[in-house]
Amino acid sequence: MQTGSAALTYIEQQPIDVVIIDLKLGDMSGLDVLRGIKAYSPESECIMLTGNATQASAIESIQMGAFGYFQKPFDIDQVVLSIQRAVDKYQSTLALRASEEKYRMVADFTYDWEGWRAPDGTYVYVSPSCERITGHTADEFLSDPGLFLAITHPDDRAIVVEHHDLVAGIPQEQDLQISFRMITASGETRWIEHSCTSVYGYGGQWLGRRESNRDVTTRRLAEDTLKESEERFRLAFENTHIGMCLMDLKGRFLKVNPQLCEMFGYSREELEGKFVDEITHTDHQEVNPSFLQQVISGDMDHSEFETLYIHRNGDLVWGQVSSSLVQDAAGAPLYFINHIQDITARKQAERELLATKESLEIANRELHTALAREQKLSHTDSLTGINNRRYLFELAENKIAIASRYQQPLAVMMFDIDHFKSVNDNFGHDVGDQVLRQVAQIANAELRSADVIGRYGGEEFVVLMPMTGAQQACLLAERIRAGVAALRVLSEKGETSSTLSIGIVEISHASRAHPESVESVFRRADQAMYNAKQAGRNRVVAFTSE
Ligand code: GH3
Ligand code: MG
Ligand code: MG
Repeated sequence: MQTGSAALTYIEQQPIDVVIIDLKLGDMSGLDVLRGIKAYSPESECIMLTGNATQASAIESIQMGAFGYFQKPFDIDQVVLSIQRAVDKYQSTLALRASEEKYRMVADFTYDWEGWRAPDGTYVYVSPSCERITGHTADEFLSDPGLFLAITHPDDRAIVVEHHDLVAGIPQEQDLQISFRMITASGETRWIEHSCTSVYGYGGQWLGRRESNRDVTTRRLAEDTLKESEERFRLAFENTHIGMCLMDLKGRFLKVNPQLCEMFGYSREELEGKFVDEITHTDHQEVNPSFLQQVISGDMDHSEFETLYIHRNGDLVWGQVSSSLVQDAAGAPLYFINHIQDITARKQAERELLATKESLEIANRELHTALAREQKLSHTDSLTGINNRRYLFELAENKIAIASRYQQPLAVMMFDIDHFKSVNDNFGHDVGDQVLRQVAQIANAELRSADVIGRYGGEEFVVLMPMTGAQQACLLAERIRAGVAALRVLSEKGETSSTLSIGIVEISHASRAHPESVESVFRRADQAMYNAKQAGRNRVVAFTSE
C-alpha cells in the first residue's frame, strides 16, 4: 500500500498478523501509522523499514511497540526471518488470549476462589467465589490490590507477606502453598489454604501467577479439635501415676509412658518394640495371648486381669491390667490401650494377710481342741472316765427341767457297791480302783444313748434315764446288778467279786410350776438305795413313799 491512510483503512476491516511499514510514506509518517495500528489492533506486530536519516525514529518506533526495524539497504533473508518471528509472536499472543479466555470461563464457575495476578501484583482476574469465601466481590479485589492483605488476620499477615515476597517477580516453577486466616466482611474468621503457580506466555515470558484460595475452616477446626484431644491424651498418658502403654495386636509395646518404664526398670527406647511376654513371668505368659485371641475372634474388646512381670533387676512386679481395644471407624482392630497398675504391695499384703489368717485359723483350731479337751476333763471323773459329780448335777438339773417342762417321765437310778471297804481292806486300794472302773464300764455298757451316768461319790453312782418310767428303769437296773454280780476281779491276793444295792425313783410332776429339785430326786433315790441295803443288799428297790 502506498499510503499510510490506505493501510489504516485496510486494517480496520480485517486483522493483520504482521505489518511492514516504511518510515517515509507519502501522506503521513511511519510512526503515525504505527501508532494508528497499535491503537486499533494492539496484537498486530509491526516491522519498520528505515533509511539513514530516520535512525532516531526507528528507535522511537520500538518504544512504541514495534517488533523490529531494518536499515536500508537490508538483507532480505534477515527480513524474512524477522517476519517469521513476528508471525510467531502474533500467533502466540492470540493463543494466550484464547487460553486466558478459557481460564476465565472455567474459573468463573469454580468453587474455590481463583485469581490471576499480573507481574506487578495487581489482579488480572478474580473468580466470583471470592465473595462466597470473603464477603468481598471480585470487583473489590480487582480495584484494590491491597484488599487481600488487608483482610488477612493480623497475626498471619507476616506469612502472607513473606509468601508474596518469595514469589514476587521471580518465576516459580513449583506450587507454593500457605495456610492463614482471613476475616470476612461480616467479621467471621476463615481458614484459607492458598497455593499459587507461575504462568508463562508462549514465548516463555512470565505473565504472573495464578492463585487458588480454598476455604478449609471446617477441616482446620476439626484438625484443631483432634490435635487438642490428642494433646490432652498425650498429657494424660505422660503424667498419669498409672503405667500406660499402647500395644499392637501381636502383644508388642508401641508406646509406653514414664510410669510404666519406672515400673519395669527399662528406658522408653528399650521397652518400645519389646513383646510384653519378654518381661512377663513364664507362669503368666498365656494371659495376654489368650486375650488377644479373644479380641481377634471378636469375642471381647475389654479385659481386666492380674499378671506377674519381671523387673529389669529380677524383682517380681504384680500388675493389674485393664486393656481396651482401639478400632478404626470400620471396626477393624488397631491396637490396645493398657493401664497397668503396680499392685505388688497390695499382693504382698494380701499374701501376708492370708498367711496370718491361716495361722490364726490353726491357732483357733488348737484352742478349740484344747478347750474341748479341758471341758471334757473338767466334766470327767479321772478314775472311771464317766461324768464327775459336778457335771452330773449340771446334767441332772438340765434333764429334770426338760422332763418337767414337757411332763415326760424321767427315772433316776442310784447304786452303791456293797461292803466296798472290805475290798480295799482285803485286796488293796488299787484293786478297789479296778473294781470301780469295771463297775462303771458294766453300767455304761447297758445304757442307751440318751441316758447319762455319773460318779456321785466314792463308790456311788447315778444314772439319769429320760423318757423312762420306774418300772422300765428297774429292768435296766436288774441287768446292771446281774452284770456286776457276775464280775470277777483277779489280783495277787486272789479273786474278788462285788454286788450293788440299787435304788430307783421317778421324778414327780406334782407341780408344774415348781418342778422337783435335783436334791429332792437324789434324796429319794438314796432312800430307795438305803432300803435295798436294809433289805439285804445286792438288789433293786424302787422308791415308795410311805
Ligand atoms: P456298805 O455296803 O454299807 O456300802 O459298806 P461299805 O464298806 O461299802 O461302805 P463304807 O462307806 O464304809 O466304805 C466305802 C469305802 O469306799 C470307803 C473308802 O475307802 C472306799 N473308797 C471311796 N472312794 C474310793 C476310791 O476311789 N478308791 C478306792 N479304792 N476306795 C474308795
Ligand atoms: Mg457308800
Ligand atoms: Mg458301799
